[in-house]
Amino acid sequence: MKKIAILGSTGSIGTQTLEIVRENPDDLQVVGLAAGTNVELMEKQAREFKPRLVSMDSSEAANELKTRLADTDIKVLGGMDGLLQIAQMDDMEMLVTAIVGMIGIRPTIAAIKAHKDIALANKETLVTAGHIIMPLAAKEGVSILPVDSEHSAIFQSMQGQKKERVSRLLITASGGPFRGMTRKELESVRPEDALKHPNWSMGKKITIDSATLVNKGLEVMEARWLFDVGLDDIDVVVHPQSIIHSMVEYVDGGIIAQLGVPDMKLPIQYALFYPDRRPMSGRRVDFYELGSITFEKADMETFTGLKLALRAAREGGSIPTVFNAANEKAVSLFLHKKIRFMEIMDIIEMCMDAHKRIDAPDVDAILSAEHETYELIEAEY
Ligand code: NDP
Repeated sequence: MKKIAILGSTGSIGTQTLEIVRENPDDLQVVGLAAGTNVELMEKQAREFKPRLVSMDSSEAANELKTRLADTDIKVLGGMDGLLQIAQMDDMEMLVTAIVGMIGIRPTIAAIKAHKDIALANKETLVTAGHIIMPLAAKEGVSILPVDSEHSAIFQSMQGQKKERVSRLLITASGGPFRGMTRKELESVRPEDALKHPNWSMGKKITIDSATLVNKGLEVMEARWLFDVGLDDIDVVVHPQSIIHSMVEYVDGGIIAQLGVPDMKLPIQYALFYPDRRPMSGRRVDFYELGSITFEKADMETFTGLKLALRAAREGGSIPTVFNAANEKAVSLFLHKKIRFMEIMDIIEMCMDAHKRIDAPDVDAILSAEHETYELIEAEY
C-alpha cells in the first residue's frame, strides 16, 4: 500500500489522481489533501478518502471546512503552513504536486528534504526553481516522476536506455485551438474560444497556455531540468492529433516514442506506480480509425509565446520566473476579459524587458521577482 498526499486535489490533475486511487483501493491510500478555495469538493474528497490532514488556502475556507468536518477525526490546516505540513507527513511516501503556480515551490522543497518522492505536475516549480530542485533531489536521493504527458512520454521512452546516448528530445504539441490562424484573426479571439482545447481536458490556466503555445515553452524549460539536456537538443514538433506524446532520438538516429489516446490518467498512473505498469480501463488508439497522423513546425512568429519562452530559457537566472509570473497574471486578466489574447504576449515581453536578471536566484529571490512582476503589471493594467 503506497501512501500519497495530493496538493491541488480539487483541480484537473488532482481529481484524476483520486480517480486512480478509487480504482486501486488495495494499492494506494491518501493521507493528505490540499486545495485552494473549493471547500465543497474538498469536503466530499475528505469524507470519501479519509486522509489524516487536509488544508485550504485561506483561513476562511479552512474554517468553513473545519465546521463541515467537525464530526470526523480529520485535521484541517490552512495556507502555506498547511501545504508544508502535508508535504512532510511522516507516513507519506509520495507527494503529488497538482497545485497551480509558483506556490508549489516551497512544499516541493520541503517534501524532498523529508525524503518523499515527487509525482510532479506543477510545472512552475521546475521552470522557476529547476536549478534548486534537481540538485536537491539528487542529493537527497529522491525521485522526481513527471506527470506532464510530454515529460512522462520522454521518461517512458528512456527506460532501459543510457542517458548519454540521447541526442535529442522531441516534444510534441497539438498546436492548440488556434493553430493555423493569423495574428489578425487572433486579435478578436475570446476566452471561451481559447478554452476549447481540441484534444485535452485540463484546468483553465494551462488550456489558455496551450492556445498561446506558452505551455510548450514551459515544457521545454521543464524538460531541460528533468532530463539534463541542453536547450539546443530539445525540439518542438506540432502534431495536431496528440497521439504521440513525445519522443527521444538516440545517437544512432533511432527514435523511441510513447503513444496513446490523450488522457492524463495514464501519465499520472505511471508516476504513481513507476516502474510498474498497471491495467487501466478506457479508450485505446485505433490506428485504422485514425488513418494518419501529421507533423508541422511551430509558427513562432504568430504564437510568440513559444519564442518568448525560448528566450527566457536561454537567458536563464530569474528570467523564466518573470516569464512565468507575467504569463500567470496576463492569463488571469484575459480570462477576466480585461485584455485581449495577443496582449498576453505583449505583457510577458514588457516584463522580461523591464527585469534586471539575477543569476541562480534562491527561493526568496524567485518569489520577489514574481512579486515585482505582478506589481509592474498591476501598475499598468
Ligand atoms: P487546476 O486549475 O485544475 O487545479 C489547480 C489546483 O490547485 C486546485 O485544486 C486548486 O484548488 C489548487 N490551488 C490553487 N491555488 C492554491 C493555493 N494557493 N493553495 C492550495 N491549493 C491551491 O489546475 P490543473 O490541474 O490543470 O494543473 C495543475 C498543475 O499541473 C499546473 O501546474 C499545470 O501546469 C500542471 N499540468 C496540468 C495538466 C492538465 O492536464 N491539467 C497537464 C500537465 C501539467 P481550488 O480549485 O480549490 O481553488
